[in-house]
Amino acid sequence: MKIAIYPGSFDPVTSGHLNIIRRAANIFDRLIVCVMVNAGKNPMFSQQERVDMIRRVTSDIPNVEVDSSIGLLADYARQKGSCVIVKGLRAGSDFENEFQMALINHKINPNLDTMFLTAEHQYMYLSSSTVKELAAYDVDLSDFLPEQIIPEFKQRVATIHQGGNR
Ligand code: ADP
Repeated sequence: MKIAIYPGSFDPVTSGHLNIIRRAANIFDRLIVCVMVNAGKNPMFSQQERVDMIRRVTSDIPNVEVDSSIGLLADYARQKGSCVIVKGLRAGSDFENEFQMALINHKINPNLDTMFLTAEHQYMYLSSSTVKELAAYDVDLSDFLPEQIIPEFKQRVATIHQGGNR
């Protein structure tokens, strides 16, 4: 059985992420979406909230499971019996970073390879941070976020703004 891991911060999960999840789930027997801690990012949602949101938007895909980890990705993959990491590759910006991460993960765990799925053209420039920036304005988010999480996302943005205006 081929098990793949799709890691990321998913803060929050976007339609671009969901597109990669659906395509990877078609390729592999089992796909584990893993919410990782990124020390350089200050998340809007807790790790558990991000897991719950991804579970909600992937509930119709039977071979997808959602998990979280605070450890090293290469170790996590070994524990799960996976030899493939899936990554989405957007225009330009992702390449350098992802190439470096793939080499490092392979060095730490030589059984581990990284496979890249190119972003669909409509999601090429979409990132969680762009959506968070747009949220400050009254923009229709339905092209960017899965419908199921839009109310929760807007609620969180409103709460943060209220806190900031106090
Ligand atoms: P972000 O950069 O949006 O905060 P993450 O750190 O959660 O994203 O990214 C997890 C993975 O998903 C990475 O491999 C990233 O390149 C990929 N990804 C993010 N947004 C998209 C998108 N719009 N299309 C395809 N892949 C994407």
